[in-house]
Amino acid sequence: MNASASGENEGLLVRRIKNGTVIDHIDAGEALNVVKILGITGTTQEALSIATNVPSRNMGKKDIVKLSNRELSKEEVDRIALISPRATINIIRNFKVCEKKGVEIPTLIEGVVRCPNPGCISNTHEPIRTKFRVLPGGLHCCYCDWVINRDITGHII
Ligand SMILES: [Zn+2]
Repeated sequence: MNASASGENEGLLVRRIKNGTVIDHIDAGEALNVVKILGITGTTQEALSIATNVPSRNMGKKDIVKLSNRELSKEEVDRIALISPRATINIIRNFKVCEKKGVEIPTLIEGVVRCPNPGCISNTHEPIRTKFRVLPGGLHCCYCDWVINRDITGHII
């Protein structure tokens, strides 16, 4: 398949949006986890479209997520790096790409994943936002030092 053919397929699979955010170059199979880590549930207002296993010149296959009428903040964008570090973010305004950015692994993530330690203060009835330092070996709870070193998506709040 040549480049223009794959570009056309992409257009057919995912409609253009007027305003919002396109998350491109998501590792194939991770689109639903990206949606999860952004905290998008069936009850939020955004119109969401997802394409999975889209042919990609650089990646073989990739997933794409489009969110209408929502621009992601830097904090939200960087969360994506935890599960798909090659993702790129396009902010769309009036059908045009206004901003294009990569994702950077954050140093700290707050309120995104739950601590696996049942005795952790963030798991008690106290209203404490979970807080993890992102280190090469995994996510370290700032309250109790437990580490999440794999399957981050299984711990998303
Ligand atoms: Zn903890």
